[in-house]
Amino acid sequence: MILILKPGTEESEIEPIRKAFEARGLIIQEIKGEATRMIGLAGDTSKLTEDDAMIFPCVDRIMRVSEPYKLASRKFHPTDSVFEIAGRKIGGGEFAVIAGPCSVESEEQVVSIAELVKESGADFLRGGAFKPRTSPYAFKGLGLDGLELLDLARKKTGLPIVTEIMSPEYLDIFAEKVDIIQIGARNMQNFTLLRQVGELKKPVLLKRGMSSTIEELLMSAEYVMSGGATQVILCERGIRTFETSTRNTLDLSAIPVLHTKSHLPVVIDPSHSTGYAHLVVPMSLAAAACGADGLEIEVHNNPEKALCDGAQSIRPAVFDDLMKKLTKVREAIK
Ligand code: PEP
Ligand code: MN
Repeated sequence: MILILKPGTEESEIEPIRKAFEARGLIIQEIKGEATRMIGLAGDTSKLTEDDAMIFPCVDRIMRVSEPYKLASRKFHPTDSVFEIAGRKIGGGEFAVIAGPCSVESEEQVVSIAELVKESGADFLRGGAFKPRTSPYAFKGLGLDGLELLDLARKKTGLPIVTEIMSPEYLDIFAEKVDIIQIGARNMQNFTLLRQVGELKKPVLLKRGMSSTIEELLMSAEYVMSGGATQVILCERGIRTFETSTRNTLDLSAIPVLHTKSHLPVVIDPSHSTGYAHLVVPMSLAAAACGADGLEIEVHNNPEKALCDGAQSIRPAVFDDLMKKLTKVREAIK
């Protein structure tokens, strides 16, 4: 971090800065230009906030040289993280597909979809039991009954479960019954939830907020990891732009950007990012082509009757075909 000082700064004003940052284990280097005076802070500055520097009246502005996160950063963990979760691998060339309905609706629905996606080669079953819906009148999931049905689907198919937590109220039951705890886009900056989920030390799928930057996503990953979790999977699920032809705009460049900045696996959600079933296959293939570590896809056996997100849900036969195409794309880019 570089602190740029105001013109006319006195030596006596610099001393408290030196003391404060030396006490935090940093190396202080003064840079004197003709008209500008600066202080360089070297060492682990990931825990410094802008306020830590801006409280000194002689500091005009600051420049960050390294990222404000550490556990999620590739600098501190140069190789790709590969996680083994319930016997499946993800990251560093290991590709995992999470598939299933937007919401768990009934035993028949979730079990039959689980059986079909498993047959096609899915690694994990997704399904919402607690749904974050914009309207208070929309279907909000079956709650704890939904979790029980996911558990049943796992027992019947062997597929590990990915499902979203919305409230710390259910931390214990998620810890017991869920293989990967999903934190949805709307809760990406619910810092209390991030921290508490992190403390469970379970695998987490963290979705990018719809108006969040990549750095904010990584800061949220840092929250989860600072709680103790090590297996955090980042998920790009589309961001808000001026474009209205799709539900969100899929930021595919987030894949190589995140891979540059972080060692954590990156998955793409082609369903919420586009909002339309016919866009799911091309975007999934594109994601695989640019190096995604996996996909999270909504699959429904009767999309017309789905209680949530039918328009963006692909049918099992389309999913089956997609899985075959994905193998070819992944072979091609090896
Ligand atoms: C979901 O995956 O069920 C979901 C609600 O997605 P998002 O949080 O990305 O909107
Ligand atoms: Mn959905």
